This record gives sequence, structure tokens and C-alpha cells, in this order.
Amino acid sequence: MSSLSKNLEDVTISEVIEKVRNYIEDEEQIKVIENAYQFAYEKHNGQYRKSGEAYISHPLNVALILTTVYADYETISAGLLHDVLEDCDCTAEEMEEKFGPSITKLVKGVTKLSNINFSTENEYLIDYYKKIIVGMSEDVRVIIIKLADRLHNMRTLWAIPDDRQKIKAHESLEIFAPIAHHLGIHKIKSELEDLSLRYLKPDVFYDIAEKLNKTKIERDRIVYDMQNDIVNLLNEHHIPHKIKGRSKSIYSIYHKLDLGKKFSDIYDLLGLRILVNTEQECYLALGLIHSKFRPLPKRFKDYIAMPKPNMYQSLHTTVFGIEGYLFEIQIRTYDMDEVAENGIAAHWSYKENKGSNSAAMLTNTTEQKLQFFKSIIDLSHDKMSSEDFVNSVKNEVLNNNIYCFTPKGDVIELPRGATPIDFAYKIHTKVGETTVGAIVNNNIVPLDYELKDGDIVKINTNKSSSPSKEWLHMVKCSTTKNKIKAFFTKSEREVYIERGKYSLEKELRKRKLVFSEFLTDENISKICDAIRVEDLDEIYLSIGNGKATVNGVINIIHKEEESAPKTIKVTSKSIDADIIVSGIDKVKVNLANCCNPVYGDEIIGYITKGNGITVHRIHCHNLETMENRIVDVSWNSNSNKRYLTCLFVYTNDIDNHMLDLVQSVSMMNVSVDGIKVVNKGDTLTYQVDCYVTGLDQLDKLLVNLEKNRYIEKVERVMK
Ligand code: MN
Repeated sequence: MSSLSKNLEDVTISEVIEKVRNYIEDEEQIKVIENAYQFAYEKHNGQYRKSGEAYISHPLNVALILTTVYADYETISAGLLHDVLEDCDCTAEEMEEKFGPSITKLVKGVTKLSNINFSTENEYLIDYYKKIIVGMSEDVRVIIIKLADRLHNMRTLWAIPDDRQKIKAHESLEIFAPIAHHLGIHKIKSELEDLSLRYLKPDVFYDIAEKLNKTKIERDRIVYDMQNDIVNLLNEHHIPHKIKGRSKSIYSIYHKLDLGKKFSDIYDLLGLRILVNTEQECYLALGLIHSKFRPLPKRFKDYIAMPKPNMYQSLHTTVFGIEGYLFEIQIRTYDMDEVAENGIAAHWSYKENKGSNSAAMLTNTTEQKLQFFKSIIDLSHDKMSSEDFVNSVKNEVLNNNIYCFTPKGDVIELPRGATPIDFAYKIHTKVGETTVGAIVNNNIVPLDYELKDGDIVKINTNKSSSPSKEWLHMVKCSTTKNKIKAFFTKSEREVYIERGKYSLEKELRKRKLVFSEFLTDENISKICDAIRVEDLDEIYLSIGNGKATVNGVINIIHKEEESAPKTIKVTSKSIDADIIVSGIDKVKVNLANCCNPVYGDEIIGYITKGNGITVHRIHCHNLETMENRIVDVSWNSNSNKRYLTCLFVYTNDIDNHMLDLVQSVSMMNVSVDGIKVVNKGDTLTYQVDCYVTGLDQLDKLLVNLEKNRYIEKVERVMK
């Protein structure tokens, strides 16, 4: 809300530079930004905006907005220059000479997005979506500049005629806010929504604003008191944190009122956000808060274990706070908060700081981002009529989606009305094509079952099964429909090629190799020589029809040592190796994650295909069928590592013992890696993942835990 009431005073370049300096140190980059400003200033000289200000104030504001999402110097420079090609006497060549190809490309991208010709509304929309999609697939920074441009135009919307105001506001709500949401740039999304509502439904907007205003003093007092209580609670338990009150956006309140709720019922009007350093502290803080304030049933959401598709991570809970008021509380780490506020833009700042988690976060972020782009780009490649296309983008990408989960907790985003077949195809075409059944939340369902938000879906497949034409009537996504249609027009050869490609992709992912880096021209020709085929398609074909194995193909390029993940190099002499393999000096050793052996367990080694030796506990049921590939292994007594172990803690009630558990475990000098509820019913079962030094410590831990009155029994997990 602050920006709405903010005076639109002139922004200066020094203000922009000052913000930039908070996260960019490179003086040469800053010089480029200053030059871009100088250039834009001269080119726009003498032009004025409808609001009466000198034109340059617009690009300056856009640049300032871009600094709030930590845009890089090229993006900020392009933001300053974004209207120069369109509105001024300047050619792309001239710009390229001064600022180089990549800034110019960004400006061109933004310019392209602004030149929309339209005759009918539908054509206009088609044009718009297509351009946005092309822009995204080329460089997402173009879209971020466009969002900043739109945000500033919305802030100054009062200056244009009424009918144009409504069109722009509508467009912002329908197109730009959802895109900002998908990119996870919450700040921009939320402000665009509020501004749109203000022009589309001014009476509603001001009504809500006034109600908020009237109750503000009272709400502020309650929030302040509650905040104090929580600060004391967390301090007592030595959890460093930051806490802040959180106001809901007017649009989100409007949205809930629109769904039929009463103003007085919208309980997350009172909100708090708690920021802590580590994931573990998130759960710890949650446990503490729940122990003091009774949680409202079914309002707890763990978006840390299951992030939203736009990368958002946080714990959400609603509790009965002081004086009986309901509080919606969000708990997350500083890193998560960064992503929550800035979405994909957060990765700019991650590049800057070099925290240990950043790399993993960034990879994760990029993958998620790609997933979203992929779904739009897929759409633009499918051969469908323009009208279908617009509807698909609207339905599948921009609107009202549901989020379902794989049993492992990966999020699959689907349009409302989607079925397990859509789900299966979203995972992969190959999975879709071999689907034979589906299990939703542990119940077998028919394939035309309508999935609901939050469903956990397991797809059963059978390698020799294939799609049925019936399915065309059961699916919701047009991409699924097109893929099913394509299946029936595909030759056997194509099926094998696709299958081979899928296996290769899957194995590369498993070995943490990047597909595009693996398939360089040089590598392709090496593989072709080795297995005597002509080209890439034939490589896929050979894998698909079984003439070559996928590991054989990968090993031509990557000798096994280089590719195995999380391995421990072992020699019988080295002191830090924790496992000794009899008769072998140097081999990669992994601890199996089905039975998670810890130091002291009876263990046995299993020789994997291409991934060294995996060490299992001797009773692990995954070993039963593996006799001929077993090798003797033993623990190195000099080991001083800690080992991951997963416990099921069966309790005898439904009270929340999360905090207590974390404390009991930590007190034993065992570090907790994660805790979650895995089974509800008459009683709760928790899964506790923790690191122990070995079997001795683990045994003591089990005995101690079982002394707790509320614990029925504790078991090590065997998957
Ligand atoms: Mn502009």
C-alpha cells in the first residue's frame, strides 16, 4: 500500500545509482548505467508525459523499480533506454554501437512487446500472449522490464482518459499480475492487483481501504502485543529471528470477499512473518508457537517440504493469538523470504552473495523457472488454432490452477478439471503413454477422476501399455490432447527414438549431468563412432530398441568416477574413508538411502551398474533379489562422520509434539535434519530425520525417546 499513497516526486539518477550500489560493486557496470541515463535523457529531451512531467521521469522510475528486485546492470540500463527506440530518433544500430548487443537486444524485446496491432479483441490478445511468450523464451529479463514499465504506468494511470484507464487496468490484472505471480515477483504482482482494482472497482477499493483504516489502530495494537509475546518466546529458546507485522493487500481481501466471506471473517487480516536463519529453526519456531498458541486445525501448510511451483517456500499456520484473535503466521528463512518477494529475480542477488545454500537454491530456482517456461513454450509449438491457443494460455498457464504432488513431493501444476492422465503426461510423455492406473491419496481412482488441489497422485505404468483413443475425452489440457493424438500418428521408429531419449535424459539427471552439455557435437560423434551409428536420432533409437544401454552410452563420454553423485572415495589406507571394501582399493561407495546404514550397523555392499558400490544394512529387503552382485564391506573404525538416519515416531495422541521431539533429540547431541507428520488418524506419527555418530548413539536415542509418555514406539525407517 505504501506505493499507492506515495507522492510521485521526481526520481533522480543518483537515487537509482545509490540503490544499485547496495548490490552491484563493479564500477564499470555502474558507469554503463550512468551512460544509459545520459543517452536516454538526451533522446527524450523535450518530451513530456501525460502527467506533465519530463519524459525521463518514466524510465528513471522503471529503473528504480528494477533495483527493488535486484536487477543486473544490463537490465537496469535497458530499463532506462526502454522507450528510446520506440519514441525517439534513434536506431538499433546506434544503440548497439554505444551499449553493445545484449542491452540492445533487451530494449528491442521490450519495444516489440509494446507494438501490438489489434483489430478484434481476440486477435489483440493472441498477439499479446505470443509476444510475451516469445519474449520469455528469449530472455526473461525482457518480461521483468515490461513488468516494471507496466507498474510505473499503473502508478500514473490517473493521467490518462477514463476509458483507457479501464483497459490498462484490466490488462494488468489479466495478463501482467499473473505473469508476475508465476515468476514469483510478489511485490510487483501485489501492487499491480491493488492498482488495477482501484480503477476497475473504485467503490469496492475505497470501501475496503476505509474499513482497514478504521480498524487500523486497534489492529496495530494487537499485532504489536502478539509480536512481543513471540519475540520473548523465541528469545527464551535462543532462536535468532526477525519478526514483522504483515498487512494483507486490498486485492487479496477483495478476492476473499468476492468468494462470499465477510469482512470480519477474514482472519488473516492479522498477520505476522517470522524470519530465521535455518530451515530447522523454522520448524523449531513453529513448534514453540504451537505450544503456546493453539493452532486452528487444518490451517497448517508446509511449503518448505513442498514448495509452490513458483518456488515459494514457507510454513503457514493460523493460531488463536492474544485476546482470542486469529493470526496467520508465516515462518521462513531469510533466503526463502528473498525468493518469496522477488521470485526468479532473487537469483540475481544469489549470484552476489556466496552462501553455501545459494548454489543449490539457484539450481532449484532455475529448474522450476524452466518448468513454467516450458509449459508456455510447449503451447506455442503445438499446432492449434489461435483461439485454442489463447484459451490454453489463459486456462493452463495464467489462471486458477491446482497443484498436485507426486508421492515424492514434486509439484505438478494443472488446470482445474485435470485428470490423472493429464498429470501423467505432465510428468513425462512417456509416463503418460504407459499409464494403466492411478492412486490418489491412497485410493484407487478411475482415469477420468477430477483431481483436486493438494492431491497426492501416484501413476501406475506398464511398459508395454499404450494410450487409448477414449482418453481424448478424459483429459483437460490441450497439450495432453495433442500428445495423445500425436501418439496415434507416430511410427514405431519414432516411439523408440522418444523412448531412448527419455531414458538418456533420465539417467543423465540421475548422474547430475546437464543434457545439453553432454550432447555436444564432439560427444555425439564420439558416441556414433563407438556404437557405429550415423546421428543423434540413431543413438536414441539404439537405446530405445535395446541395442545399446544407456549407461554404456554415457560411459563412452564420462568415466564412472566423474559422474557418481555424493560419493566417498575410498582406499583402505585413507583415514577419512568410512567404509572398506574387501579386496578393492579404490571404488566409489554410497550409503543406500532406503535403509540408511549408520556406523556400527551390519552392512553389505551391492555392486550397481555404473554407480559404484551401494552399502545397505544386511536385512534391507531391497537386497533380496541381488545375490550375485554382493560384495563384503566393513566400517573403518577411524571414521568420525555422522550418518543420516530416519525414524518413525509413533505417538499415542494427536497433540503437537514437534517441538518436544526436536528438543529431546537435540538434547542427545543428535542434530535434527527434518521433522514432519507422516500419518494422521487417531494418533500422529512423525518422521524425524537426524544425524548420528553411529549405532551406539542411535540405540541410546531410541531408548530415551521411548521414555516419553506420549511416544508409543520408535522405529528406523526401511524404504
Ligand atoms: Mn515505458
